[in-house]
Amino acid sequence: MTKICCVCQRVENGSHWKEEYEFAENERVTHGYCPLCFDVIMAELMESRDELSTEECAVHSSGQDSGQQTLCA
Ligand SMILES: [Zn+2]
Repeated sequence: MTKICCVCQRVENGSHWKEEYEFAENERVTHGYCPLCFDVIMAELMESRDELSTEECAVHSSGQDSGQQTLCA
């Protein structure tokens, strides 16, 4: 299956990602991320995870004492 980056639309061709690609007839494609966009997505995920954990900390510190110490990195 041919993988297309759903962000920059480049097409995986072996170990290369090409911007210009001729699709064969009946070629099956799947969407994913090229290494570059994958890095960007992961960076964004890490950022949003930080935001999430910040929100969790706010919730934990505003009550609901479960008797557990919540470590907020
Ligand atoms: Zn990409």
